[in-house]
Amino acid sequence: MRELVDWILRHAERRPEMQDYITELGPRLAASELSVDRLSFARIPIFAAVDGIQYLWSAEKPGEVGVIERPSGFLGEDEHLNSPLHWVWEHRQPLRAPLSEPAASNALPFLSDLREQGFTDYLAVPLDAGDSCSHILSLATRSAHGFRDEVLSEARALFTVLGFIAEAEDAKRLKQLAGRDGLTGLANRRAFDLYLRQSWCTCSRGGMPLSLILFDIDNFKAVNDQFGHNTGDRCIQKVAESAVHTIRRDDDLAARIGGEEFAILLPGSTPQGASQLAESLRETVSQSPWQEIFQSSERTLTVSLGVGSIIPEPRTCQQTFLATIDQALYAAKQNGRNRVISKEWVTTHA
Ligand code: GH3
Ligand code: MG
Ligand code: MG
Repeated sequence: MRELVDWILRHAERRPEMQDYITELGPRLAASELSVDRLSFARIPIFAAVDGIQYLWSAEKPGEVGVIERPSGFLGEDEHLNSPLHWVWEHRQPLRAPLSEPAASNALPFLSDLREQGFTDYLAVPLDAGDSCSHILSLATRSAHGFRDEVLSEARALFTVLGFIAEAEDAKRLKQLAGRDGLTGLANRRAFDLYLRQSWCTCSRGGMPLSLILFDIDNFKAVNDQFGHNTGDRCIQKVAESAVHTIRRDDDLAARIGGEEFAILLPGSTPQGASQLAESLRETVSQSPWQEIFQSSERTLTVSLGVGSIIPEPRTCQQTFLATIDQALYAAKQNGRNRVISKEWVTTHA
């Protein structure tokens, strides 16, 4: 098991797709003490907008991985509702079914089928406890003694690292899948909401801070009134460019969440880091070569920013977190605009 974990960690640097992992993991698990004959990795979505996918490796087809893609509606279908995957997803705990005992395998039709195909033991493990998607790994063997308990407990480290990989892939996928805003190319509101939920879970599990900057162009209505809507649009694009140039890490996400309102989500950033970033963005925008757009050396544009951080926990509330940073942004407007107001650590519960 130890070598398998090392192999996965080495592999992770290249960040291949989950399908590649399964292709290589299948034969390795078959040759291991677990003697796995069937391996499946399923991603069960909880967002209506996200589809489900399952990768299947079987000892009968060594070089192949089957891919089953399903529209999100499949979650309500009987085939899924009666499956071990649904059971694990609903109970959020592993399902172990020694198939040599008929009673256990009768409960779910899929397990009876496996038994008929000569499998002797089955285990499905949730790889995460997140809210964004559920990743479930299932293993089945035909070995006469089934899975030995001590080997399964050694395999726990393996499940944990696979969970990390699945999550990293989700985060990447959500960023791609989630919509882009047409005018600026930034993530749109929907993408932002998805990524916020995803980061909330990841930071909550890792005990990491999550920081958020909300910002809004100052006195923008006057720009539209004076220079017209097209010039207004170019201003929005320029501010978006400044936001993109300000963020530094792969995990940071800049989004346009309203007409002239933006957000930057910074998983893993401290209040100090996030405030510095906000201040640097404020400065970049205010010092942009606005004369290129306005054809006038006097006219410039500024933004007001609210910023705050939280270490998400089960009792903390996303909406309150957002509202608190929105209040900081409002305070920045009230205090004269072109400034950053930081709430530092936000508390969302009594
Ligand atoms: P404040 O400093 O308080 O934010 O003042 P403001 O004038 O920026 O605020 P307000 O919310 O009153 O006005 C926002 C304006 O942004 C109104 C709207 O015409 C303009 N706007 C919103 N979306 C777009 C867009 O996509 N393109 C353009 N050109 N203007 C937009
Ligand atoms: Mg506004
Ligand atoms: Mg505004």
